Amino acid sequence: MAFEGLTERLQNAMRKLRGKGKVSESDLRETMREIRLALLEADVNFTVVKDFVKQVRDRAMGADVLEGLNPAQQIVKIVDEELTKTMGEEAVPLNKSDKIPTIIMMVGLQGAGKTTTAGKLARKLKEDENARPLMIAGDIYRPAAIEQLVQVANGIDVPVFQMGTDVDPVEIVRQGLAQAEKDHNDYIIIDTAGRLQIDEQLMDELAKIKALAQPDEILLTVDAMTGQNAVATAEGFNDKLDVTGVVLTKLDGDTRGGAALSIRAVTGKPIKFIGQGEKMTDLDVFHPDRMASRILG
Ligand code: GDP
Repeated sequence: MAFEGLTERLQNAMRKLRGKGKVSESDLRETMREIRLALLEADVNFTVVKDFVKQVRDRAMGADVLEGLNPAQQIVKIVDEELTKTMGEEAVPLNKSDKIPTIIMMVGLQGAGKTTTAGKLARKLKEDENARPLMIAGDIYRPAAIEQLVQVANGIDVPVFQMGTDVDPVEIVRQGLAQAEKDHNDYIIIDTAGRLQIDEQLMDELAKIKALAQPDEILLTVDAMTGQNAVATAEGFNDKLDVTGVVLTKLDGDTRGGAALSIRAVTGKPIKFIGQGEKMTDLDVFHPDRMASRILG
């Protein structure tokens, strides 16, 4: 289960306060020390942890919390609110164009869940808005990638534009956009190539596709299981492509929490969706407050 260790450690850190009628400054210091260690253990970015702990401590010291009624409860509330703030406060919706089509470009490392997420998103748009998306198969480097996208698309009854593996991806996207215009698709979801790690050639290609398609949304898919690496990946993609949102996948797995808690604070870009399974229905809008509650258990 996700966040298991983190939840348990945060609960333990704060449970110790509960037994006390009055919380002293040194009690608070000890609790904050344990929270800090719990977050670091969960692979949360060091600077994010430092800022978080400072915010909680300042607020707890500031407003007569320690002297007030139920200091322990108030501290739990502060931790909850600061976790929510760290993850972006409010849910951020998908960017949409004023006129059709809205163009969504999926980017991310190989295996992060890009193709699966493209399908989940297409399905969600169909379901929620009765939309008619077209998916464009832009990953020409792995023949299996096109096959996988076609399979995903067939399962949700969404058309795919593809030209096999011998055409330049920028050209594929150009022709895919023309096709969508003819067919009056209201959403275009471009699946792009991934790599095992970020490299110049990939980024150049993605930048060219971005320049051509001028997407309303560039959704970066990152695997929550990879913790700090997910954060580094997000920084790398964001530096080159100025992404507009993040999808955090595999939150159904045994992930520690570092990616969920760090990505927004480190990149400034919102997590818009979370993937919580392999099925096409396993995509949810990301709500920072709900995630904070889930982390606190
Ligand atoms: P891509 O290389 O980025 O296009 O990644 P894929 O879409 O092929 O996904 C890689 C693997 O991760 C596949 O086996 C997916 O079923 C799986 N996957 C994707 N998203 C999730 C998720 O949210 N939860 C789980 N458990 N598996 C996922």
